[in-house]
Amino acid sequence: MLFGGFWTILSLVAAVRAVADPPLHLTIRTPDELYDATALVATVRLKNVGNRTLRLLNDPYSVLTPHWETNIWDIRNGHGGVPEFNGVQVKWSPALAAAAQQYTVLVPGESRTYTHKLGEKMYNFSRLGAPRTYTVLLGGSSRSFIHVPDNGVGDKLNLETVTSKVEVLGTPSTIILGRTVPPVNTLRSPRLSKRINTFQSCNADQVVNISRAVFVAQQLVNESYHYLTFHATNCSYPRYETWFGSWTKQRADTVTSHYNHIRNGQLFSDTYNCSCDDPGIYAYVYPTEFGTIYLCSAFWSAPIQGTDSKAGTLIHESSHFIDNGGTQDFVYGQDGCKALAIQNPLNATNNADSHEYFAENNPYLN
Ligand SMILES: [Zn+2]
Repeated sequence: MLFGGFWTILSLVAAVRAVADPPLHLTIRTPDELYDATALVATVRLKNVGNRTLRLLNDPYSVLTPHWETNIWDIRNGHGGVPEFNGVQVKWSPALAAAAQQYTVLVPGESRTYTHKLGEKMYNFSRLGAPRTYTVLLGGSSRSFIHVPDNGVGDKLNLETVTSKVEVLGTPSTIILGRTVPPVNTLRSPRLSKRINTFQSCNADQVVNISRAVFVAQQLVNESYHYLTFHATNCSYPRYETWFGSWTKQRADTVTSHYNHIRNGQLFSDTYNCSCDDPGIYAYVYPTEFGTIYLCSAFWSAPIQGTDSKAGTLIHESSHFIDNGGTQDFVYGQDGCKALAIQNPLNATNNADSHEYFAENNPYLN
């Protein structure tokens, strides 16, 4: 017993030291008082306080990439009210981004400042009532960064997670008075009004590829829906349990409804925009802007079908639309999704990549 106690204390000390001494220092500054919620801006300063050069991957879910308006912020008022999120959901690959050298280099002592325009489009405060005092923080996972070591790219991908110490300068609250954002236009494209794709900034080759991917995606979604409805009373089969975890009627019904929404012709009436050329990114959508999918570099190098394919990416993105169920990106990749299915089946049934892998069904599971 004595030894047990001794070791417990030792490991606690070690854990505290690891947390107390991170190589990155991150400070967040927001205005103390604002009269217009659309002007809410967070200024983030990131400093390398360690003694080695850091190469931080330009993760679209980090403070390094303000142009990716992702939901990395934790904003709430005293009653727990949160503003409506109108930003983007991105499908990306750390491996592809690292291979394309999409990282930010910080030598020891170097700092960078980023401006995040939170009120302009990303967060809508208009439906939030009193109290109009908000705490603006970063979501937990956005305090960690992915470091690419010198030998980090090549045959073996050797990424490292670096955690920052977060400090909020001034008062951690923002008081928003007076005018708030007008409600966003909630008119959405009528679901079945048109059954023809619109292409924006796409060349002829891209149009051909999208059209093929749409065709395959539609087949995969139909097949997924029929599989789920065929096993509607009990879907305790490897394919379901691998991606969505232990079967319950309620969770399976949620998943089935997602595929049912997507298969109702939406893929053939979507608008596809090819203007994005970020390496490492497959695609993104604004979940509140039903029917528009933005395709990026990694999409064009993906196969039409199979794992992380073009067809699967379209299913992933379609599942994000609020009208289709509004899935999240809790985890990416097959390994992450398999682990999520075991640890948190509820989140798995609301995770976009899980929907993609179930539909791709590669390698085949019955
Ligand atoms: Zn996504």
